[in-house]
Amino acid sequence: HADLAMYRAKEVGRNNFQFYTPAMNAQVSERLRIESALRNALERDEFVLHYQPQVDLRTGRVVGMEALIRWRHPELGMVSPNRFISLAEETGLIIPIGAWVLRTACLQNKKWQRAGLGHFRIAVNLSARQFAQQDLTQSIADVLEETGLAPHYLDIELTESLIMTDVEHAVEILRSLKALGLQLSIDDFGTGYSSLSYLKRFPIDVLKIDRSFVHDITLDPDDAAIVVSIIALAHNLKLHVIAEGVETQEQFAYLKRHGCDELQGFYFSKPVPAEEFERLLREHKCLALEPEPA
Ligand code: C2E
Ligand code: MG
Ligand code: MG
Ligand code: MG
Repeated sequence: HADLAMYRAKEVGRNNFQFYTPAMNAQVSERLRIESALRNALERDEFVLHYQPQVDLRTGRVVGMEALIRWRHPELGMVSPNRFISLAEETGLIIPIGAWVLRTACLQNKKWQRAGLGHFRIAVNLSARQFAQQDLTQSIADVLEETGLAPHYLDIELTESLIMTDVEHAVEILRSLKALGLQLSIDDFGTGYSSLSYLKRFPIDVLKIDRSFVHDITLDPDDAAIVVSIIALAHNLKLHVIAEGVETQEQFAYLKRHGCDELQGFYFSKPVPAEEFERLLREHKCLALEPEPA
């Protein structure tokens, strides 16, 4: 424990001295507890995917969904990915977990298509470790083959930092992924570092505007300017654009007025378990979205 404490203190302190406090001690043991539990979570079948609809702004129809992982921990309850994804990333556990997510998401989507509920895209988040995997393209090809999902229904979400670390290498990987016939999106767009000149070299299809810009879109002229610029940038580059974190009718109307293609957010629906998502599709709630007259 002492070693870990030192390590942790170093990690936190970097160039300055840092006193080691009981609060930090608690943090370390919480981390250790989560890490060891994380190791067993897959075998114990504790992960679950929730699905959040992506809605076409012109028609109000659901056209896609994003698969988002949750951890049903026996004691901690439903644990948000923000609390364990980076740990899974550090420990390498993200590889088997990510493979489970991809397979489960593709299977579920195919099942809904088979049940006649419609044809939807399904987006899956990819982490840095997965992106660095030697056999990434092959493993995705295998899952598509095994689940029978047509490649154009799969959307892989990547972040700017993930592809900007080694641009040459990233371009190569993205090309091989595109060759499978799937769709590529940049998640949380605008929050990371990305050079516009590189943007055109990446074979991507979609920009997802980060929800931090959407939040005050109707209140803060700067945020509004950023969002409108991202929409224009995307369209000029022949890319599709999705706004994340849309919570209000005002945000929805604003985005529609400015030609944004799709929205994802609590305004339409939170991420929900598979059964609930299926109900949402069956009840055609998805078609009820109509802007109020301005
Ligand atoms: P993300 O990929 O940007 O996913 C969108 C997040 O925004 C989700 O949080 C979603 O619940 C939340 N969100 C959607 N609409 C709204 C809204 O209107 N308002 C607000 N306040 N939030 C909204 P969630 O599910 O907690 O996931 C957090 C992050 O965890 C994800 O951000 C993604 O980076 C990561 N993540 C989730 N599932 C996976 C996974 O299977 N693999 C990997 N590598 N990362 C994942
Ligand atoms: Mg995402
Ligand atoms: Mg995002
Ligand atoms: Mg994110």
